[in-house]
This record gives sequence, structure tokens and C-alpha cells, in this order.
Amino acid sequence: MVEPDDLAAVERALGSDWLTGGPEVEAFERDLAAYCGVSFAVAVSNGTAALHAMMAGSGIGPGDEVVVPAITFVSTANAVLFEDATPVICDVDEETLLIDTDAAEAASGPRTRAIVAVDYAGQPYDSAPLHALAAGRELRVLADSCQSLGATERGRRTGSIADATVFSFHAIKNVTTGEGGAVVTNDAAIATEVRRFRNHGLTLDHHERASQGTWQYEMTSLGYNYRITDFQCALGRSQLRKVDGWLRRKRELAALYDAAFASVRDVRPLKAREDVEHAHHLYVVRIPGKRRDIVYERLREQGIGTNVHFRPVHLHAYYRERFGTRAGMCPRAEAAFEEILSLPMFTAMTEADVARVVAAVEQAL
Ligand SMILES: *Cc1c(COP(=O)(O)O)cnc(C)c1O
Repeated sequence: MVEPDDLAAVERALGSDWLTGGPEVEAFERDLAAYCGVSFAVAVSNGTAALHAMMAGSGIGPGDEVVVPAITFVSTANAVLFEDATPVICDVDEETLLIDTDAAEAASGPRTRAIVAVDYAGQPYDSAPLHALAAGRELRVLADSCQSLGATERGRRTGSIADATVFSFHAIKNVTTGEGGAVVTNDAAIATEVRRFRNHGLTLDHHERASQGTWQYEMTSLGYNYRITDFQCALGRSQLRKVDGWLRRKRELAALYDAAFASVRDVRPLKAREDVEHAHHLYVVRIPGKRRDIVYERLREQGIGTNVHFRPVHLHAYYRERFGTRAGMCPRAEAAFEEILSLPMFTAMTEADVARVVAAVEQAL
């Protein structure tokens, strides 16, 4: 949601001397790192670029395997392919659809270098068992927290839990810059590599050269142009100040849905873990008995927009054809895919809006 103070911040940035690579980018990175409680944040052009940069910055390369849960947006796994490494898809927990540690362990082998944990729907992954597994095998834990900015697990904000974490600021995410993303980490080496990676692999960017009074620069690794503009970062900074209030509202809306569906036998909201403050990017329910598509259709007829997040990665045609993946490999994710529906969840919703959605679902059933 873009509000008047956001517009004012963007206008100020557009009237300044720096449209890109300037002080608003650094200020956004400072604010984001402080918000997450980490040392470094590097802002980039979108969440997928951030995933790519995180892979490169973590040293993932040819011959490496990276474990990725089946229920996620395709770009989580694609980012592994961008660096010529192999994503190995593993099953999820039945109740939360978050990565399952036993499945991740079974998917890990001698070539495995990292596990990507996805904070599906805005709920932080279960870090204790996953980090224990990773520590025992000297694997990195990388988080795709594109949906969970502002969420906490045992009092720790997402961004501060894994070795490195990615956020997306796409228009539909809790904090937006239109398109945008970031890598946050406490690891100085990862942060340095990500910074170079977003700027062609050059050792100094334009702003650094200006402030150090030198024209010197050198390309030391292969990078991309994954930069984000100053006016986008001005928007991101303005949004970040409001995210806690927005998340409080989303938790209220989720509680209203939960209470309403408690008495509806054929609608099962996903389980919220103990010790987490959920970011509720999505409100996902399971509708068993092959009736999910009917509910989707009926709601659509009434102008209520819903969606299915996500087709399991290994069932996409590209993955099936390239890697021979198929149904049966991740039964819990596949069963969920038949039943899940993401209901409307946005801060401007009223109690009456929630009641209307609930009534429409009940009527459809
Ligand atoms: C949104 C999202 C992405 C991709 O982010 P973009 O900014 O759209 O590139 C990746 N993973 C997850 C889980 C997401 O929700």
C-alpha cells in the first residue's frame, strides 16, 4: 500500500542529485539492517536478483547441490541454476508447508553446500532442527524470507536467523519498492560479494569512487546490473517505518479468519507455529475433498480474488523435463497443492470483508 508520505519521500528523492547508486540506497540498507538486527544489507533490483546474488555471494557454483523445499516460488530454485549448481527439491512439513528437516537431511549428500529455508506465507521456518542439521554437515542455511519481512521466531526477526537472507519488495509484498529486493547477513564476506555482484563484479561503484575521489575500478568477478534506484529506496525507507503497524493489522485479520473457520469442518487454515510472530503475507487454507477448485470458481464469480501458492517446484514442466522430477517425490507438498487456497489478505480489509469471504467459502462448499 502506497500512502501520501511515501509519495512525498519518492518526490524528494527524484528531485535530488542521485537517481541511482546514491545516498538513499545506503540509507535504506542501513535502516533495513537495523530493523532486522544484522550488520549488512545490500539492496538490489528484485527478490530474484537477491536470491541469485546470495547464491553467488555464498560461493555456490558448478557441481554444488542446494536443497530447496518443494513449496516455494520457482525463483528460489532457479537462482541455484543461475550459478550452474543443482537444486535438490525436498518435501515440506504437512501442517505448515515449511521445509521439513528430515526431508532436507534425506536430500543432502556429499555435494550439498547449502539448504534454502523458505518462510512460506510469511511464517518463519523452524530454525532449531534445521540449523542443527546444517551445523553437523557444515552446510550454509540461506533463507528466502521474501514473504516474511517483520516476522519473528523466538523473538528474532527474519533476516537475523540464517547465514544470509533474501527479501523481496515486489508490489504485492509487505514492504514494496515496486520491484526490489535485498540480501541481509552478518557475514562481511557475503555482503562484499553481493555488493560487487549487483554492480558487474566491479570493486568500486560510482558512489564509492566519487566519495573516495578516484576513477579507479576493476572487475574481479562476473557480476550483473542488479542495482536499485534511489527513488525506489526512498519508498522502501518510508514503507519500512510502517511495517510493524501493518503486520499488527494482518494478525488481527488472520485471527478473524481463524475464529470464523474454527467451526467450518472442511476448511483448515495452515498451522501457525508457536514462538513465531507471523507476517501473514498470505492467508492459506486447505480445502480437502477435491473441492478447492469449486471454491476458487465460486469466489471468482463474486469478485473475490484468490490464488494457489504454489505449484510444487518439481512438478513444473521445466524441472520435469530437465531433471526428470515427477509426482510422488514429495507427497506432502503434492497433497497440499491439491487443497491449498490463498484467501484475500491485505491491510485495508475490514471485518466485514473477512466475513464476506468466509460466507462465500461456506456457501461454495
Ligand atoms: C516474491 C517471491 C520471490 C521473488 O521475488 P521477486 O521480487 O518477485 O523477484 C521469491 N521467493 C518467494 C518465496 C517469493 O514470495
